[in-house]
Amino acid sequence: MNSLIYNIPAHRLPDDREGRLIVRASDPAELIAALTPEDPGRVIAVQLLNLDADSEPLNAWAPGLPIELLMRDPAAEFPLLYRHTNLLDNHPVQIAMTVAPGFGKAVKTAAALDFAVRLELEQPDPALIEELAAVLEFYLHQPTVAQPVEYFHGALLGFYHDEPIPLWLILDENPGIVRYIAADGTESLSGRLAGADLTILPDADSKTGFDQVLATAEECRTCEFLKSCGGYFKWPRRDYDCAGVKRVFGLLREAAAELRRDLAAVPTEQDL
Ligand code: SF4
Repeated sequence: MNSLIYNIPAHRLPDDREGRLIVRASDPAELIAALTPEDPGRVIAVQLLNLDADSEPLNAWAPGLPIELLMRDPAAEFPLLYRHTNLLDNHPVQIAMTVAPGFGKAVKTAAALDFAVRLELEQPDPALIEELAAVLEFYLHQPTVAQPVEYFHGALLGFYHDEPIPLWLILDENPGIVRYIAADGTESLSGRLAGADLTILPDADSKTGFDQVLATAEECRTCEFLKSCGGYFKWPRRDYDCAGVKRVFGLLREAAAELRRDLAAVPTEQDL
């Protein structure tokens, strides 16, 4: 099977593409109807685009299938999360949340309801960086948080194990395998690269990694966080000032070091 993953609108399923599918729609009934004749093994997740929708029909449907709920206006939409908690009985559920002013309250609500979160960042301004740092502080130190908030979780693990993972992978935007199918059937790269020319990627047999290709800004070449970031924040504007996002990476690195120190201080069986 083709190794690509297509994020595809439900009404485009008859286009007959090979590969794995993330199927999106605003209406749960449309998802169920469109996927009924589909090979369930190909569908790796569904996305519900409208938090106002009644997700009840999805509760007992396709148990175990991951569901992602898109939240574009977190400051206004966070109360809508309460109506989707039943989905957690039968599905892993993640909130794909736009990082916009006031998103911190939505992260706290999602965490309290036991939803995982995937933050969708563009190029945050200084005020949003302050909110991002405050949300990270909450994520790191609030003992009731049981589900991951990405990209914090993946970056923290990368620093902890000294095996950094670029944000393109942590945030499910691996340009090597993820493709976005628009409503009119046009295929492009996904996430912040949506609409970018597919030819920017290296050939399959090239030794050049896609993260090297995408980290084109001069500042990335000497950036201490290149391996954790992969040039992510220099898209779409190459002149974006990374001082704030580097500060947040620094906080994550400090937290990983602190975690390592704490675990090293725990007595082992031999010490007892
Ligand atoms: S933080 Fe900025 S400079 Fe550093 S790798 Fe990422 S995009 Fe490049």
